[in-house]
Amino acid sequence: MSDVRNVIIIGSGPAGYTAALYTARASLKPLVFEGAVTAGGALMNTTDVENFPGFRDGIMGPDLMDNMRAQAERFGAELVPDDVVAVDLTGDIKTVTDTAGTVHRAKAVIVTTGSQHRKLGLPKEDELSGRGVSWCATCDGFFFKDQDIAVVGGGDTAMEEATFLSRFAKSVTIVHRRDTLRASKAMQDRAFADPKIKFAWHSEVATIHGDQKLSALTLRNTKTGELSELPATGLFIAVGHDPRTELFKGQLDLDDEGYLKVDAPSTRTNLPGVFAAGDVVDHTYRQAITAAGTGCSAALDAERFLAALA
Ligand code: FAD
Repeated sequence: MSDVRNVIIIGSGPAGYTAALYTARASLKPLVFEGAVTAGGALMNTTDVENFPGFRDGIMGPDLMDNMRAQAERFGAELVPDDVVAVDLTGDIKTVTDTAGTVHRAKAVIVTTGSQHRKLGLPKEDELSGRGVSWCATCDGFFFKDQDIAVVGGGDTAMEEATFLSRFAKSVTIVHRRDTLRASKAMQDRAFADPKIKFAWHSEVATIHGDQKLSALTLRNTKTGELSELPATGLFIAVGHDPRTELFKGQLDLDDEGYLKVDAPSTRTNLPGVFAAGDVVDHTYRQAITAAGTGCSAALDAERFLAALA
């Protein structure tokens, strides 16, 4: 059993490292669990990030995260490349258990475990991530000017991504397994009215083609099994996200989609001394800058909580 720390941060994306930077600079000596395989978070899987302020010419995702990590470490954040496998957040002293079974104790905990975008599970999907395959139109749409793009999904997010992408693209084809959409009527109407958007009904992506870059897709008709080629240099996958909240079930309040609930605009959860930030809370914006922003808020909330205990 360790000494009682001021604050433990679980997660190491933009939210976690920003919370680490702020709490470290406030002399709270944060302990940060970065995750065993995915330290650095979602941006470790991408190439150019052009919309994080401060980098005029853009920056590669892994470089941005290395910078954030080093900046937090410079001020004394203690970083551990390990997963948290159990928590007890209910008492005044919270406990966090790592994969070796060591129990770490703290007066405050900041949860920044992010969310996992759902994948199609196809060969080349990961290999071509950032090279034509994307999960975020706001992030990557700009790279696809005058190109043919496919969007997979039938919900609000897919319609929103498609209508956003049609500003840049030559054409946008929405690939959907059925012939009716889950999206709200307003979102559907907007997509139907857009002359650049076409629909491939009863269709799923069977194969992703391309070596260094996406070059085309093979679609499979979900009723007949028939295969057809769709020329596309962009594939946006909008089939949902899974917030990483399994560890916290039964302790922290979750919304219907499994995201952590906070007392917005603060980052306070239902348990005193437990704060949450980034994509594990956010199903609306899901950007590096918004995750970093709420990571900062969580650090300030934790700082004030600890000051009130003293
Ligand atoms: P994440 O970045 O998801 O980090 C969460 C971290 O928590 C991970 O490191 C994970 O390992 C860790 N973790 C989870 N569970 C545990 C546990 N039990 N113990 C320890 N650690 C744990 N946004 C932009 O603004 N611009 C872009 O160009 C852009 N491009 C993107 C490209 C791709 C391919 C993807 C997937 C996303 C992109 N985004 C982009 C979105 C952006 O990456 C996310 O909004 C942002 O990373 C969310 O930050 P976060 O800190 O909340 O979570």
